[in-house]
Formats: sequence, C-alpha cells, structure tokens
Amino acid sequence: MVCSGCVLGSTRNSVVFGDGNESASLMFIGEGPGENEDEQGLPFVGKAGQLLTQILNAAGIDRKDVYITNIVKCRPPGNRAPLPEESAACDPILQTQILLIRPAIIVLLGSSPTKWLLKTTEGISKLRGRWFNWRGVAVMPMFHPSYLLRFADAKKQGSPKHLSWIDIQEVKRQWESVKATGELEGVRFD
Ligand code: URA
Repeated sequence: MVCSGCVLGSTRNSVVFGDGNESASLMFIGEGPGENEDEQGLPFVGKAGQLLTQILNAAGIDRKDVYITNIVKCRPPGNRAPLPEESAACDPILQTQILLIRPAIIVLLGSSPTKWLLKTTEGISKLRGRWFNWRGVAVMPMFHPSYLLRFADAKKQGSPKHLSWIDIQEVKRQWESVKATGELEGVRFD
C-alpha cells in the first residue's frame, strides 16, 4: 500500500516505523530514513546509526532497551531534510507512537526533530544538552550522529563529539533515575 499523505510514499522502498522496546521510558527521534534504513526497513542502521549505537553502548545504553524512530517514516530523496508538509503528514504516526510508548525522556537527534517537536527556530548548538518540558515529557536535543561523523576527536573539550558524550551521559543518568524513582533528578527545564 502506498501512503498518499505526502510525496515521500511514492519514492521509498520501506516504511520505517521504528525499532526497539515499545514500552521504553527512553525514546530517540531522528529526522528520516536514509538509504540503508529504506533498504532494511529499520531506523539508524547506516553509518550514522552505527555511530549512534556506539554512543549508546559507550554510555551503557543497550539499543534494544530504548525506542528509536524518526519524524518521517519514508526516506526523503537524496537524504534531504523533510519538508514541513511531510513532517505534518507523518505527525499523527509520531504522536501515536509517543502516546502508546509513553516515554519519560525523549532525545531529539539533530535540528529537524528539534525544530519540529519543540516548534522552535533556535539552532541545535544553542539547544543541545538542555532539558525541555514537552507535554510533561522531558526532552533533550542532541547533535545528529551524521553531523558527528565529520569530526574525529571525541576527547577535545568543547568539540561536538565531546559535547554529545556529555549529553548522552546526562540522559543515561536521568534515565536511571526514572527507572529507580519514576522521576528525573535535579533537572532544570528551559
Ligand atoms: N538519520 C536519521 O535521522 N534517521 C535514520 O533512521 C537514519 C539516519
């Protein structure tokens, strides 16, 4: 069946709904499927996905324990960012996923999901690493792993990879707190 909600349905191979634990208290939202995801029907399985998996593992987060999805479920041609009307067409699916999974924490990977969910025009460099309250869910934007692929050094203070390492450790700390007490600990929401 071809979805006629937007034009992306006519060029993709797979609908990439999401992957992982459907009862997870931690959810990751990316931009949209790329070539590998479109081929395999799973989110974040290409180079950026492998880096995401590495970052999660390094922080002690097992991919299968979280839920991973994208704003749009069909690949934008040439990996361009989804257009607002494409994000809008797919939004009921994303909203339903969030309602069903009921995560306590959502991590927004990159500028597209951050702008879409938080309805902001502020750049990702300003927003990453900060906590936002989105309809009662704690939301943290982080750099997209495909952006991080451009940088070699994770140890250099203040580098994008280093900042992402700080961010994911904070996410992990708060996720542990949620699992232990049902609440985040010492978070200041922006
Ligand atoms: N980039 C994304 O934003 N999502 C994917 O699933 C893969 C790459």
